[in-house]
Amino acid sequence: MGSYYKHTAAQSVKIPYSFRCEQCHQDSGLLDAVITGSSSLNTHSKVLSDREQVKLTQAARAALIRELQSVYRNATQKQVYAAAFCDECPHCHQPQSWAIAQMKGDQFTGPITALVVALICSLGTYFFSDTQSISLSLGIFAAGVVVGGVLLARNRTKISAKQKAASTAMEHERPTIHWEAVQDLLDERV
Ligand SMILES: [Zn+2]
Repeated sequence: MGSYYKHTAAQSVKIPYSFRCEQCHQDSGLLDAVITGSSSLNTHSKVLSDREQVKLTQAARAALIRELQSVYRNATQKQVYAAAFCDECPHCHQPQSWAIAQMKGDQFTGPITALVVALICSLGTYFFSDTQSISLSLGIFAAGVVVGGVLLARNRTKISAKQKAASTAMEHERPTIHWEAVQDLLDERV
């Protein structure tokens, strides 16, 4: 039995972008969306060898490239802009309609996580405790269902608030994203 040390590395890039506000029609000015990729490695040693360090850094870079390429595809093919592209106008602080698609896509992530965690905990309680109490396990799962429901309701409230704010806009804009700033990473194959 030895202890493990978890080593992590992260790599980020900035994508410059701007948008014309749908509410006050001012230009946002140049903003940065930060995209990050990370990786981790478990070893027995507190300090990584040079080779392990290189491997970890390369894995983080590969994760960054995969994330960036997925962000690019979603934006250019589906007009779904990652949450890293903040849609709050710097002048009037209103949200923009182009950010709604991403929120809709993400609305189930939190609730599903809550359900999965509750399921694992309730099965764990059943199989690994001495009592093997079904009512306790069911109780834990029921609590997870409630948390999931609350999270989903909260997400839907946020979406409808944004939809309401954005629907008053007369015209629908799209952000201008300067992909050329990260072109070398977009061209890379991982
Ligand atoms: Zn504005």
